[in-house]
Amino acid sequence: MVTAVYPGSFDPITNGHLDIVTRACALFDKLIVGIYDRPDKQMLFSVEERVALARESMADFHNVHVKSYSGLTVDFIHKEGGRAMIRGLRMNSDFEAEFEIAAMNKKLAPDIELVCLMASSEYQCLSSKLIKEVASLGGSLKGLVPEHVAVALNNRLARVKLEASTQRASRRNKISQQ
Ligand code: ADP
Repeated sequence: MVTAVYPGSFDPITNGHLDIVTRACALFDKLIVGIYDRPDKQMLFSVEERVALARESMADFHNVHVKSYSGLTVDFIHKEGGRAMIRGLRMNSDFEAEFEIAAMNKKLAPDIELVCLMASSEYQCLSSKLIKEVASLGGSLKGLVPEHVAVALNNRLARVKLEASTQRASRRNKISQQ
């Protein structure tokens, strides 16, 4: 039984990620989607929320499991008994970043093979970052993320906007009282 791990931040999961999951789980007996809890960038959703959104998106896949992890990705892959690490490649920029990480991972864990799948043409330009930008400007997310992810995104962004405007109002209040 060969297990592969597909790691990432998935903030939130998109149809581009799901395309990679669909293709990878046809190649391996078991696929674990590993959601990194504290990436080096600001997250919109907590790790628990990212896991829940991903799990709901993959409810129909019988050999896919979603788990969160912290620490080194190769340690997580070892812990899960994984032999391969899956990554999706979109453009040149992905390639350079993956190449660097792959060289380091090979030193840390020579037994883990990196398997890169090329993004399908319709998802080449799709990223979680872009999805958040489109959603915050009120654009349609149809065909880009599952329906429940679009709902979660719109709710979260509305909350973020409300919090920001409440903070601005309270700052203005403080200044006017000085
Ligand atoms: P991002 O790079 O968008 O912040 P992640 O860290 O969650 O997203 O990415 C996890 C993996 O999925 C990475 O290998 C990334 O290159 C890949 N990936 C992200 N979006 C797509 C897409 N649209 N098509 C194919 N692979 C993708």
